[in-house]
Amino acid sequence: HARRIEGIDKNLWVEFTQLTAEYKAVNLGQGFPDFPPPSFVQEAFCKAVSGGFALHQYTRAFGHPPLVKILAKFFGRIVGRDIDPLDDILVTVGAYQALFCTFQALIDDGDEVIIIEPFFDCYQPMVKMAGGKCVYVPLRPKKDKCETSADWVLSPGELASKFTSHTKAIILNTPNNPLGKVYNQEELQMIADLCVKHDVLCISDEVYEWLTYDGAKHVKIASLPGMWERTITIGSAGKSFSATGWKVGWAMGSGHILKHLKTVHQNSVYLCATAAQEAVAHGFQREFEQFGKPESYFLQLPAKLQVKRQKLAQCLKNVGLQPIMPEGGYFMMADISTIKADVPDSTGNDEPYDYRFVKWLIKNKGLATIPVSAFYSPEHCKDFQNYIRFCFIKEDSTLNAAEKILREWS
Ligand code: PMP
Ligand code: GLN
Repeated sequence: HARRIEGIDKNLWVEFTQLTAEYKAVNLGQGFPDFPPPSFVQEAFCKAVSGGFALHQYTRAFGHPPLVKILAKFFGRIVGRDIDPLDDILVTVGAYQALFCTFQALIDDGDEVIIIEPFFDCYQPMVKMAGGKCVYVPLRPKKDKCETSADWVLSPGELASKFTSHTKAIILNTPNNPLGKVYNQEELQMIADLCVKHDVLCISDEVYEWLTYDGAKHVKIASLPGMWERTITIGSAGKSFSATGWKVGWAMGSGHILKHLKTVHQNSVYLCATAAQEAVAHGFQREFEQFGKPESYFLQLPAKLQVKRQKLAQCLKNVGLQPIMPEGGYFMMADISTIKADVPDSTGNDEPYDYRFVKWLIKNKGLATIPVSAFYSPEHCKDFQNYIRFCFIKEDSTLNAAEKILREWS
């Protein structure tokens, strides 16, 4: 095998999805809704596949024209600038492929990429495959209190110390997976200032951009002065419209950067499923018209999730687990150090405690979650073995089933 894939053969999602299926566990693990997408996008998809020939065939390589047009219009209004649908957007097979194109196009051997911990796990292997070197900087819980994701912060001095002459990019993920942190304007400005000072790119993964709670506001770092020219913003229709299996995502940014992502895309995937892009285009057209109104799905979904988040938090507290209230996204981390479970090490080679705990919970209690140390670098995962991640974009019946399991056992 090629050296670039050495040491990245194990995958968190493959492992825990299999285990969850094997034990038929109640699934608060992998992040996906167990309810259908809104009817307006379902209908658009059905219409797309029941028409003539065109939507069954190839479309434009870098994005189906109706989709790039509406994405440009939609996000142009949000970032307050003209976005060119042909130059500044690339439609990809989910946010995953947008990330992959970004790293392959922009990271060279030996380039350093700053990653903020905890981070969505695929960043590390993707940087490695591109030949880059990951440089980690942790969000740390404040000493005196740690009730919400806002209590986890970057140290400005520590972050600044990670920028060197080899730094090519920093990856930002807001709202963050798994913590749910939503970076505020000052935090983003601090990161932006460092990017400008050191002439570094910002890769901003914003797949949970519509999902914020308790008045937290999602801010696009690309909208800060001097940042459009150096930011690649990544989004996901799967997350936006509760249709993760459609695998439509995008990268957006200045044409002089995006053209390099297109080079990777045209020589690997070439284009994404036409009908799914057509349906997503209809979805965004509808949301453009409803923007800010009560009918908007981008307002209705977070309102629905705010209640589920409360429900899950209460249930965790009732059984003595300490949840960290997320400001955004659809995951919640909880501290398991108060629970003394007799959890075996199934691998025999010093498996982190949270991995052991999660496997035990799936096998013995029939409840699936995700170990949080998976979202840390090998250097730091030892220090973060006491948290597990719960997904709450689930039917109330699923959340109730999880609550029953937790109650009976605690
Ligand atoms: N980034 C983050 C932070 C995620 O949680 C996910 C998970 N789905 C992705 C990217 C990938 O998104 P997609 O399913 O659109 O490929
Ligand atoms: N992003 C989702 C999560 O964090 C799913 C990732 C995946 O299945 N690879 O749960």
